[in-house]
Amino acid sequence: MKSFTLFLIAFILFTSSCKSIFKTSAYQTYLNSLKSAGLDQTAMGKEWIEIGKTALNNPNTNLVLPFKDEIFFRAEQPLAVAYQISYKQSSKIKITIKVKANNASKVFVDLFEDITNPKSVINGYLSDTVIVYQNKENQILHLRLQPQLLENVYVTIEIAAQAKLAFPVQNGKNSDIKSFWGVEREGGARKHEGIDIFNKKGTPVVAVEDGFITRVQETNLGGKVVWQRLGIAGPSIYYAHLDSQLVDDGQSVKKGDVLGLMGNTGNAITTSPHLHFGIYTSSGAINPLDYVKITDSIPKNILANVNMLGQQHMLQQEDRVLPHHITAISTNGYTLYDHGGQVKYIDNLIKPLLKYKIKKDVNDAFLMDKPAFNAVPIAKFNSKLGFEVLGYQESFLFIKQSNNQGWVKAK
Ligand SMILES: [Zn+2]
Repeated sequence: MKSFTLFLIAFILFTSSCKSIFKTSAYQTYLNSLKSAGLDQTAMGKEWIEIGKTALNNPNTNLVLPFKDEIFFRAEQPLAVAYQISYKQSSKIKITIKVKANNASKVFVDLFEDITNPKSVINGYLSDTVIVYQNKENQILHLRLQPQLLENVYVTIEIAAQAKLAFPVQNGKNSDIKSFWGVEREGGARKHEGIDIFNKKGTPVVAVEDGFITRVQETNLGGKVVWQRLGIAGPSIYYAHLDSQLVDDGQSVKKGDVLGLMGNTGNAITTSPHLHFGIYTSSGAINPLDYVKITDSIPKNILANVNMLGQQHMLQQEDRVLPHHITAISTNGYTLYDHGGQVKYIDNLIKPLLKYKIKKDVNDAFLMDKPAFNAVPIAKFNSKLGFEVLGYQESFLFIKQSNNQGWVKAK
């Protein structure tokens, strides 16, 4: 299990950097197998294909990262869940998926940069998995989870964004950053092309990522400085005002390696010791703050009762009250599906108000599967015996009699 996870991360880092996928996705392979078995023509097969598209076109857009969702895919109904994730180039997204089941259950995982292009950039038919995604550009990502047909699968997913680079000062914290990008310098003659991180003189300054040292020098402005390049065509990282430099030109360094010690050399000679930290791309300096700022990557606990997963909830929508199933419960809301495969995202489960007193106005002999004239009978119904009205749509009532539920037409 462990080795498979590691393999997947390596695969993902490779694919997200070169972005060409020649392999058919696990999802597409399964879809092809449904087609060759003729299952795509069955009601359930059609529903499975449709729900995958519906989910992607109506994803959960209400994600506050770090986010956590518990999902129960019920075997009786094809289901999929999808999330829209705003990806910022300064970050990396970590997606942790855990599958709980008696046997080794799996789920199709597909991450899309563009949902109009059916090829996902990361995909697989996976059990427990960690996915790390990063890119040079901002992206609107879509992530879909969907099990195979007729499988009960219980999944926990966590989605977190972390700064792309490590914090450049050992044991540093965000509140040590006291001067920011763009602040005027020398009476407005120039703008601050970086951030200043304060700490005690001699605090280790560390490499924010693997790379190699391109320059170790002393200048009037930066004092003792170290330049590091991240990859062949990557950005240059600038560490300035060091008290001492502990690396050499051309040296390879790993993330976290000590490059020097904090000081106040150069034009910082009259200020307290701090690291001036900058990032230079081929198009110039960029604001480094979000690239190194430490973010909370552990989602809050889900406060709702997750035992409600899979249960029915009657949802009020304007002029109707329809049965839905609770498919997912997150740190900030619920994902519900109705019987037609329509998904709804809500903050709270609120019981609808039902003011119907129509018991004597129903004389149907059957409970039907949907609120429509072409509905199919699913159980016997006796209007003379007691029953409960759970919901309604137009003149159709969703009722419960003994252990049966279904729709009847009111007179
Ligand atoms: Zn500075």
